[in-house]
Amino acid sequence: MPIPSGLPVVDHHCHLSPAGEGVEAARRFRAAGGTHLFLTTQNYDRVPPRSLEDYERQFATTESLARRIREETGTVVYPVIAPYPVDLVDAVGTLGPGGARDLQRTALDLAGRWVRERRAFALGEVGRPHFAVPEVVAQVAEEVLAHAFEVARESGCPIVVHAAELSGEELAALAARARSAGLAAGRVIKHYSRRRLSVAERHETVPSYLAERELVLSVRNDPGPWFLETDFLDDPARPGAVLDIATVPRRARAIAESGPSGAESLWVPFVESVERVYGWRPEPLREAPR
Ligand SMILES: [Zn+2]
Repeated sequence: MPIPSGLPVVDHHCHLSPAGEGVEAARRFRAAGGTHLFLTTQNYDRVPPRSLEDYERQFATTESLARRIREETGTVVYPVIAPYPVDLVDAVGTLGPGGARDLQRTALDLAGRWVRERRAFALGEVGRPHFAVPEVVAQVAEEVLAHAFEVARESGCPIVVHAAELSGEELAALAARARSAGLAAGRVIKHYSRRRLSVAERHETVPSYLAERELVLSVRNDPGPWFLETDFLDDPARPGAVLDIATVPRRARAIAESGPSGAESLWVPFVESVERVYGWRPEPLREAPR
């Protein structure tokens, strides 16, 4: 069976840069059959942000790129914004632990305001550097994450967690921290999940699976919520560092053709999971401009 017409085909986590392939990458995504992108912010400058104004400029770059992609390719784009946890390595060095923590907290407050204004749709990426960092940096990251839970609760949105691969126990701890901050664990998305997680292991957190062929085929019949993503980086200096932007539509076609219930199962990552985790349905696709 082909992909049902009218079904959104959603990449739940990618990065695009005006200095990289940018809008053209979104055009390739559309041409491959993709329809909706969750566009996560990133550093667009050589040095990480060191002031709130730097973060505001970064978020504005993401927003204006999202607008151009919508206008020029018809792709539906949902910006996801937050100060990147890895930025803390630089910020602790230049601003000190207190300064770095306050910077990321105020940047999260700004991101939360944009979510409430529906200029962004989740807080991401938040969490911890995925590599070993000095204890002081790790400590600040945990304090910032605590604030992210609160801002997400106040703004009524999910958080998209950046961290090394987490065990079931670590996901349980994350879920417990979210709940104690008043945020439902079902609003905690672990992005870049690279192994299949049973419902029991998830502890109500939500995996966003990297759309590698074997992984996609192993999770396709799992109960939701779960998402598919490429984590496309759009960095010409690092070709092939992550999956190509056209991967999710290709995998969607493979799932649809995998058996009688294949097409049906695509509703889980592309529609039902968005509805359950974000609280709204992906908007219908507009006609792509010719
Ligand atoms: Zn990412």
